[in-house]
Amino acid sequence: MDKFDRAQCTDELLREAALAQQSARYNAPGAEFEHCQECGESIPRRRREAIRNCSTCADCQLLIEEKQKHYRR
Ligand SMILES: [Zn+2]
Repeated sequence: MDKFDRAQCTDELLREAALAQQSARYNAPGAEFEHCQECGESIPRRRREAIRNCSTCADCQLLIEEKQKHYRR
């Protein structure tokens, strides 16, 4: 392993740690979700700003609403 490989490795570890920290924060109850809790896609900032505690992308939200409609019948 040369110097460059090691540097990249450390970089990746740091990034993973940062991501874990971030997801712990965003998955806390009542927190804003940066990624869809259904499919894992990132939720556009505009959508997150428009909808409080929005936890899914538009596509999944639509699916959830369709399902709820179905169950309500
Ligand atoms: Zn989704």
